[in-house]
Amino acid sequence: MVLIVALLSLLSLLSLGAAYGTLSDDTLKKLPSPGDEFDIKNGAILAPILRTRVSGTPGNAAVRQHFLDFFKSQLPEWHIELHNSSSETPTSNGKKVPFVNIIATRDPPGSHPGEVGRLALVAHYDSKLTPPGFIGATDSAAPCAMLLHAARTLDAALTKKWEAGAADDLEEQRGLQILLLDGEEAFKEWSDADSLYGARALAEDWEFSYHPAASTYCTPLDSIDLFVLLDLLGSAAPKVPSYFATTHWAYKSMAKIEQRLRDLRQFKSSPNHPARMAKRKNKKPRKEPNFLPEAAKSDHVFMGGIQDDHLPFMARGVEILHVIPSPFPVVWHNMRGVEDDAEHLDMDTVEDWTRLVTAFAAEWMELEGFFDPKAQGRAAYTDKTEL
Ligand SMILES: [Zn+2]
Repeated sequence: MVLIVALLSLLSLLSLGAAYGTLSDDTLKKLPSPGDEFDIKNGAILAPILRTRVSGTPGNAAVRQHFLDFFKSQLPEWHIELHNSSSETPTSNGKKVPFVNIIATRDPPGSHPGEVGRLALVAHYDSKLTPPGFIGATDSAAPCAMLLHAARTLDAALTKKWEAGAADDLEEQRGLQILLLDGEEAFKEWSDADSLYGARALAEDWEFSYHPAASTYCTPLDSIDLFVLLDLLGSAAPKVPSYFATTHWAYKSMAKIEQRLRDLRQFKSSPNHPARMAKRKNKKPRKEPNFLPEAAKSDHVFMGGIQDDHLPFMARGVEILHVIPSPFPVVWHNMRGVEDDAEHLDMDTVEDWTRLVTAFAAEWMELEGFFDPKAQGRAAYTDKTEL
């Protein structure tokens, strides 16, 4: 019995692995950098997120509008859906607080929703009610910005791939989904009831939203091949463990890309990046402080995970890659008196995560050969809400 289980899991690993297309060194080196768009004061993508955005408040609505404007102007091919729910909270005095998740999806042209398996890239956009003025730059303003930038880079390559006819292969229809979730934070004290408001409502609704009969995937939950959740990213020197045995293979894929990006000197936060090397006397290469240091760990040693938006999805059988550092950044929830604000972000680390997540998704979507090096020179996006 054990042997059969082992064989079955090996077969599933092989089938998933076979569809994964490695990016060339050249493509890795040419992935566009967020540049000015991630400026914390004026950057068109990041700056509008760096404000209080507690669920149900005008700040939350303004950040949501920023995302919607971004998709409308930059990614018009994406299908955008708002998922609404409401709930009382321990601080709402019996009133219901609205929670609005953004679901942005790009499927191959002409595909049927029940036939597309998707890579879901996920972060929460609400911020914590307390302490007053809490910004949550790593939690999760920066991860949201990473996803917007990644989505745009991937979108251009997906368009090229599908124009080239690669979507005609009906055997495997792959789509990309960005989930920007609301209501992750507790209002008073973290508990099953006071946390993950948006994620719980979405997972519950999707469990019973059926695609047409005889679809390959029964529900939008089944359609998620992998749920990649980013959280608490943007502080220097993160260490992200591999949390789950069933997705350790995906962790290893991401770790491999990280190592390649470091070897190619594309990681700005690396002590061996040319810009940092130039500034120091001792030119001896230093040990790379990998973000994902557990690629080599035995497949049997997995500790418990961390409570976050993936839980309601995982409980319903969705495969999860949780990209969250352990230990948490020192700025976490301002518990140690260090603000989790714009000024405490390590922008090289933010940029490195963006490149890494983009490359991981690009390999997943098999986009080698479809990146346009000229895209780097595109006119910088200006956020209309600032005009
Ligand atoms: Zn938080």
